[in-house]
Amino acid sequence: MEEDNSKFEIILPDGKVYRSDKKEKKNIHTIQGYTPDGKPKNMQFAAKKNCDRCGECCRRDTPIILKDDMSLLIEGVISESELYTIREGEKLRSSIDGDSYYCSMEIIKVRPIFGSFTCLFYDPLEGCTIYEKRPSACRQFECWTQNYEITGLEGKRLTRKDLFGEIEILNEVFKRHEDKCSLYKFNDLIEDLKKGKEDNVSKIAEMILYDLTLRDWLKEKLTLSDEVLPLFFGRTLFEIAPFYGLIIEKEDENFVIKISQEEEE
Ligand code: SF4
Ligand code: SF4
Repeated sequence: MEEDNSKFEIILPDGKVYRSDKKEKKNIHTIQGYTPDGKPKNMQFAAKKNCDRCGECCRRDTPIILKDDMSLLIEGVISESELYTIREGEKLRSSIDGDSYYCSMEIIKVRPIFGSFTCLFYDPLEGCTIYEKRPSACRQFECWTQNYEITGLEGKRLTRKDLFGEIEILNEVFKRHEDKCSLYKFNDLIEDLKKGKEDNVSKIAEMILYDLTLRDWLKEKLTLSDEVLPLFFGRTLFEIAPFYGLIIEKEDENFVIKISQEEEE
């Protein structure tokens, strides 16, 4: 195993200073601890200094795609069907602390494996399957430092306009979708419904139907596969409704909308 000459020190609870000033096995350091019955026992811990491809971050979230990553799309490392859009105003739940927040701008991300937060490119045996060509957000992320944020995201993020800006029909459809299915409107309607404004049920149902219908229309018009629709339109309102505490059931051609007592995790 490689050796590491790095020096660091830890102040232990009893005031003693532990210094790593001798050669240790790569990243593994030892300090003396105690068993529950008070007997001395050596404890080992790892101090990372670079990415060892453990995959912890890949299982927790998926990367935001930046303009710098455009070459990965052009080269086909990442395809349109492996991405999805999070629209401005969309309610999200943090995989780190479980808190909910609303996304302040449109972003495009790698899709997670269905039913999890894990990145689509993560393989339990192999780790990241595109590691040498992973997106720049993954390259910038250093779990061993406090460098968790991408600064200047507003200017750096890739948007649908960057990808499809020249295609007139798409611009028109995206604009119409935003007008009719704005997430700010969706949020407000649900908030007011929870306060007792029952008329909003039909408005919410109308939005959900419009969202689904427009997708079907574009899919047929441009002969698209279902897989690219999350990039074109983001997640359906039908899909995200449970995050807002709505239960939607389809009975024949009708939707039945109910408010759940608890918002979905
Ligand atoms: S950056 Fe991610 S994959 Fe690399 S060591 Fe840290 S947690 Fe593991
Ligand atoms: S692209 Fe690779 S490094 Fe980045 S989150 Fe996905 S699996 Fe991890």
